[in-house]
Amino acid sequence: MSSQNPAFIPGPTNIPDSVRKACDMPTIDHRSPAFAKLFKPAVAGVRRVLKMDQGEVIIIPSTGTGGWEAAISNTLSPGDTVLAARFGMFSHRWIDMCQRHRLDVEVIETPWGEGAPLAGIEKALRADKSHLIKAVLATHNETATGVKSDIAGIRRAMDAAGHPAMLFVDGVSSIASMPFDFTAWGVDVAIAGSQKGFMLPVGLAILGVSPKAIAAMETARLPRTFFDFKDMLAAYGRGGYPYTPAVGLVAGLAHAIDLLETEGLDNVYARHHRMAEGVRRAIAAWGMTPYAKSPDLYSDTVTAVKVPEGCNGTDLVQLAASKYGMAFGVGLGEVAGKVFRIGHLGMLTEALVLSGLCVAEMCMADLGWPVKLGSGVAAAQEYYRGTVPAMALAAE
Ligand SMILES: *Cc1c(COP(=O)(O)O)cnc(C)c1O
Repeated sequence: MSSQNPAFIPGPTNIPDSVRKACDMPTIDHRSPAFAKLFKPAVAGVRRVLKMDQGEVIIIPSTGTGGWEAAISNTLSPGDTVLAARFGMFSHRWIDMCQRHRLDVEVIETPWGEGAPLAGIEKALRADKSHLIKAVLATHNETATGVKSDIAGIRRAMDAAGHPAMLFVDGVSSIASMPFDFTAWGVDVAIAGSQKGFMLPVGLAILGVSPKAIAAMETARLPRTFFDFKDMLAAYGRGGYPYTPAVGLVAGLAHAIDLLETEGLDNVYARHHRMAEGVRRAIAAWGMTPYAKSPDLYSDTVTAVKVPEGCNGTDLVQLAASKYGMAFGVGLGEVAGKVFRIGHLGMLTEALVLSGLCVAEMCMADLGWPVKLGSGVAAAQEYYRGTVPAMALAAE
């Protein structure tokens, strides 16, 4: 008997069977034209997903965290100032990484549950008359709190301040699931990972790099070897890598992008919004609320659910895993115990989401939480029934 349930952690996400098969391939010579044939469509696909009209795509055998390191080490020098808001565990970890790299981080402390503070960013940039700030770091989707930030708004704040800093965006839990526009938002480095919206196993850091960030490499003095864009781009020119690429994942990436584009990226984003809205209806029916402070901040890829007074979100996550074999996300850092997280990104359908809500409810009942069995599921069912996309109806 198979006891495999879908996972509801906000990454790694569920892997479509066809993506698993695309990753499963015999060994090929990664210095042969056979690899170039796999690699080129993957790079071109990433370019389309990010909406890049210039610059370079870099794909590194790594994870999102490696993507952070690649972004800063290729473009900055020790002692450079970067500006970042801290409002959750992921924005915190990137700040911590910058500090460990001897960067001077100007941190805008922001309450968890809020997003990047546009006015605060503009103010800090305006105050920086001598342009010491070399980069603004933005976490597009703070996976710890389920909060999305307005990256277009950050670009507007930077432009309003007339500041030349680069804009680095952590899109690890948003790219390929929520709208992202590298070109329109004037992003200089965008960072994604294979195991979230791209629905692949973990193992790739996927980056978009602007011409301005490429030019910054010339003077950037932070040490880098494994992550050196220059080595990468030189090797790409020959259709290969400076070291052994994750060949199977690259093949899987090209296929995953094919799936996303066959559905249509706008439809993918609309589906994520719809899946997320169903989850939010369920949460409301349970008498709970998302940790995100206001609806404009609600993430369409993950919801941190505030649990009732006297309840512990981690208990639910542990019970769901041990009793029902289903994975939810625990609260991290200062929201540990206060929330549990429902990841709703990647390969998801109404039926899959409902199965997650159903198990969450059983756990709540088991733990004696004040929730009526079926209430959240019914609210999501009603929402999904009433909002079937026209495309699905037409296919009937
Ligand atoms: C998952 C995640 C990361 C870290 O990625 P890893 O692949 O685990 O290194 C970074 N930022 C955000 C927003 C994430 O969700």
